[in-house]
Amino acid sequence: MKELAEKQRFGKGIQLNVQKTNEVKSLLGDLAFLIEDTIKISPAKQKELLLSVLDKCTTVSSEVGFDQNKSGLSSQEINWLLTNPKPRWIEYLIFRQQLFEISNQRVVPDFPPYVLIEPTSVCNLRCVMCFQVDKTFTKAPYMGMIDLQLFKKVVDECSAMGTKAITLASRGEPTLHPDFEAMLDYLSKKKFMEIKINTNGTKLSENICHAILRAKVTSVVFSVDAGTKDTYEKIRVRGKFHEVVRNIERFHRIRSTYKNSPTITRISGVKVMPDQSKEQMLRFWSERVDEVTIKDALPRWDSYNNPIDETIVTPCRQLFDRLYVWYDGTVNPCDFDYKSYLATGNVTRNTLSEIWHGDAYRRLREEHLVGHRVSINPCDKCPIT
Ligand code: SF4
Repeated sequence: MKELAEKQRFGKGIQLNVQKTNEVKSLLGDLAFLIEDTIKISPAKQKELLLSVLDKCTTVSSEVGFDQNKSGLSSQEINWLLTNPKPRWIEYLIFRQQLFEISNQRVVPDFPPYVLIEPTSVCNLRCVMCFQVDKTFTKAPYMGMIDLQLFKKVVDECSAMGTKAITLASRGEPTLHPDFEAMLDYLSKKKFMEIKINTNGTKLSENICHAILRAKVTSVVFSVDAGTKDTYEKIRVRGKFHEVVRNIERFHRIRSTYKNSPTITRISGVKVMPDQSKEQMLRFWSERVDEVTIKDALPRWDSYNNPIDETIVTPCRQLFDRLYVWYDGTVNPCDFDYKSYLATGNVTRNTLSEIWHGDAYRRLREEHLVGHRVSINPCDKCPIT
């Protein structure tokens, strides 16, 4: 594993938004007018949020297309706006701005605005930079599939309490769950603004493609790190490049039969091998999906044995802006801690709301806010801030 850390790195992540620049500029123009009109009749807090969004619209118009790290709307936000009806724009932008502020200011909202639910912790691949290569993890009690009733209970609470974004995935490959289509169907009946799936794409059957598109999933993220068979298969061990390409191309063929589909696709890759070429990857995948992102891999294939960083004091934003629910109902603040050393409760015993405001979460946040994260395992070995 040490080898991986020593490989050549990409440096700052890059992102290619495949949308046309003119289309985006026109969207931003419309958006600016809409926000200015809405501000006139908005209460003070909403007005403040919308002014910040307006500022981002102006900034991004000259830089659209690349790099989410620049100020302005992200590629994800732009694509959401391009694919969703105008009457929903303001509500969406307010949610995104609130999420941004919660995350940056480390404030605890009444309920997590973003929840990640893992249908399963099992994965069919053994990617070299993933905790699925930790043999102490891929066995009991860590492996399992969520019960559909438990999944519905979690979704019901999130929906009732105002969560706006749900991701179906965390430690395993979600499409392996036999009830995956039923989960999508259930989610589609709620009013979430963002539904995201992270998948390795190896099991993307025709039925699953239709289920995703019927459910109006907003974002399908394919974990793929190369545009060639050799490099892909060295990294995504057990994956077959030609199958993944076939499945992703088929997904887009099926998507073209859904009128006004809001589903955006993204290739999300990480840098782990010296022979990975970002140019080659962008060339190959930008013709096949809506977005391509590449960044350095997080060192989470063996989180608990990473070197301790004695100097790290920045509080982790993930304690404030999101929450993870695992297959057995365990609630965890992140999946860097894939063995749940930090577990804050279990949704089979308490509600998410009780856990979110419970003692375990409160203590964890306090330690981070006073600069003591180095006293917590594995926050002391984690680069996330
Ligand atoms: S392990 Fe990392 S991501 Fe998880 S809570 Fe600690 S600092 Fe945050």
